[in-house]
Amino acid sequence: MEMSRVAAVVSGGLIARIAIALNEKPDMSVRDGEPAAKERELRLQRCHACGTYLFYPRYLCTACGTDHLRCCPVSGRGTVFTFTVARRPTHPGLAGEIPYIIAVVELAEGPKLTTNLVEIDPDDVVIGLPVQASFEDVDDATLVQFRLVGPGR
Ligand SMILES: [Zn+2]
Repeated sequence: MEMSRVAAVVSGGLIARIAIALNEKPDMSVRDGEPAAKERELRLQRCHACGTYLFYPRYLCTACGTDHLRCCPVSGRGTVFTFTVARRPTHPGLAGEIPYIIAVVELAEGPKLTTNLVEIDPDDVVIGLPVQASFEDVDDATLVQFRLVGPGR
């Protein structure tokens, strides 16, 4: 299990480029360790006792307390719950990327993810905007970001 790496990437993303990195081993699942983002599929833990989806990964369901958690594909669709536009780089490596959009996306399945919105003009972003997952390989990680719903990658 490499929960610490996932957490580090997510928290590190707050000062750099936010996204959820799902590598081939740690993934979103505490137990399954299935490849996910590398396959361009978003997966979250789901409780098989009550059906609740969980993010971030946990050992026990937050709704019913069981440990019947498995990694399951989700739609990758959601809406912008909240956002901000970074107009100054928070890291020298991001100087060429400003302005960029840091957002919390509420997935159709319920969980909220802190991420980036890409391929969207910052002036066009509004709360409630429908978005879908978009995957980008960066070094040895695959970032899960979100873009407007529609055809694409
Ligand atoms: Zn449950």
